[in-house]
Amino acid sequence: MSAYAIGVDLGGSHLAVGLVDPLGKTLELKEVKIDNLAPPEITLEITAKTIQEVWKNRSEVCGVGMGLPGNHDHVRGICHFSPNFPSWHEVEVTPYLSRVLKLPVYMLNDVRVATLGEFHFGAGKKVKNLVMMAIGTGIGGGIIINGQLLIGAQEAAGEIGHMTIITNGPLCNCGNRGCLEALASGPAISSRGAEAILRGQSAKLRDKIKSLDELNAKVIADLAALGDDACKRILEEAGEAIGIGIASLAVTLNPELFIVGGGVAQTGKPLFAAIQAGLNKHVHIFPSSSVSIVPASLGVRAGLVGAAAYAFIQCGVAIP
Ligand SMILES: [Zn+2]
Repeated sequence: MSAYAIGVDLGGSHLAVGLVDPLGKTLELKEVKIDNLAPPEITLEITAKTIQEVWKNRSEVCGVGMGLPGNHDHVRGICHFSPNFPSWHEVEVTPYLSRVLKLPVYMLNDVRVATLGEFHFGAGKKVKNLVMMAIGTGIGGGIIINGQLLIGAQEAAGEIGHMTIITNGPLCNCGNRGCLEALASGPAISSRGAEAILRGQSAKLRDKIKSLDELNAKVIADLAALGDDACKRILEEAGEAIGIGIASLAVTLNPELFIVGGGVAQTGKPLFAAIQAGLNKHVHIFPSSSVSIVPASLGVRAGLVGAAAYAFIQCGVAIP
């Protein structure tokens, strides 16, 4: 009987591998530092070795699920590119791992597996339709409709950070202007803070940090909570941009739940209030109160248990 799956969360600096049961409980966990500039073969070799250490050839393991940042061909297990691993181009990830491990290995984008994690084991357990948004250095996402994760033709369903929110807005990493990511990601909020300092709009923010490198969404949120007007405005504008994005998704997909996670989401209430205000302002065809916006509940472990959930799904093991 296949009672376990192995979940793998491979990021640019960190690899986490866990033995997970169908209730989402991690029974064993190994974490390893990763050099994102190392050749892919080295990183995959470390990944295979770490999986073997966790697996220990237990016959009850049905397979391995893996989350990796970037755009992939999940059917062939090929990573087209990954922003976190600059030298990865058309890397055969699952063919290599399944050959070495002699286990089925499945992979998806990292935020898509985190979405599965929150859906099966976290904040989205009780619903069938949800959108997850992870706001950190970038903005990623995942969409579940009728209990199914949407993948899309280019495997880009859920790239909600690249919805255009305003025309001719700030330049995004993707090349477009006015993307949500360019308005509300951690770096976007920090650069608004730097502007406020340079324009003399917030002496408190200027005095709080020694150099602009120390600027982040949390510093700005802390000062906003203490009543600093410029910091409040920065957070409100980021929250409204997210609210506009959520409003567009709400009327397009009509999910009952939005889950907001990632480092920026941890700044807490003021941001969530601004997101809710943005949603209320822009949804008119049904009561915006019918849409819930909640924080993610699994934190950094969403990716690992979600990757395991993906393996269970692919292996045909029921998740209660
Ligand atoms: Zn973009």
